[in-house]
Amino acid sequence: MITLEAQPDEIYDIELEHSLLEANAKLAKENRTVLDQHGITAIDFMGAIGSGKTTLITKMVERLKDRLGVAVFNGDATTSNDADAIAKQNVPVVQIATINGCHLDANLVGKGLRKIELENLKMIFIENIGNLICPAEFPLGSKARVVVVSVTEGPWMVRKHPHMFLGAEIVVINKIDLAQAMDVSVDQLKNDVHKLKPDIKVIATSTKTGAGLNEFEKALLAVSHGK
Ligand code: MG
Ligand code: ZN
Repeated sequence: MITLEAQPDEIYDIELEHSLLEANAKLAKENRTVLDQHGITAIDFMGAIGSGKTTLITKMVERLKDRLGVAVFNGDATTSNDADAIAKQNVPVVQIATINGCHLDANLVGKGLRKIELENLKMIFIENIGNLICPAEFPLGSKARVVVVSVTEGPWMVRKHPHMFLGAEIVVINKIDLAQAMDVSVDQLKNDVHKLKPDIKVIATSTKTGAGLNEFEKALLAVSHGK
């Protein structure tokens, strides 16, 4: 077998990428300042297509919306299916169509923040594009990042995408009701995550059975209370 691996100096757009990431980081800080000024906690969700980000966000909105002001930013490359589903909850929803862009960035999120009434909000959930590589490199200004992994993605998911986890505060292992059928060990996935980042919070959930949803809700509230 022949193995080829790109070296950092072989990547043509490295110069461009560096200034791009710097510009994004600056805008993310500005977003964070605006959010902090309004006492809003933004939490962004990263994970593959089909990992269950939208359903998980919808479940949390259902639980929280009567107690505190919640809004959702929904990133999607082409469709508005997910934003439409969440809008049924009657909370402010901003659909961010990236027009085939593979990640959200701080500029788009900043635009979204200027489009909605921030005064009565306490939390904004931001659903990133279903992609496991570059969203990790683009902070958005959120207080915590959640990675959603589903057991249907197979046993090696965590090992194959370490960067996603290193920059996150919470990992959700979702669809655990299917773990047996998929022959995937939830404990093994948890161990893989903790090997990468020992202090990260890992919560096993199923939006079908409701397993882990109380714990996840508590973890989100703890972020907003600065714990
Ligand atoms: Mg979705
Ligand atoms: Zn991308």
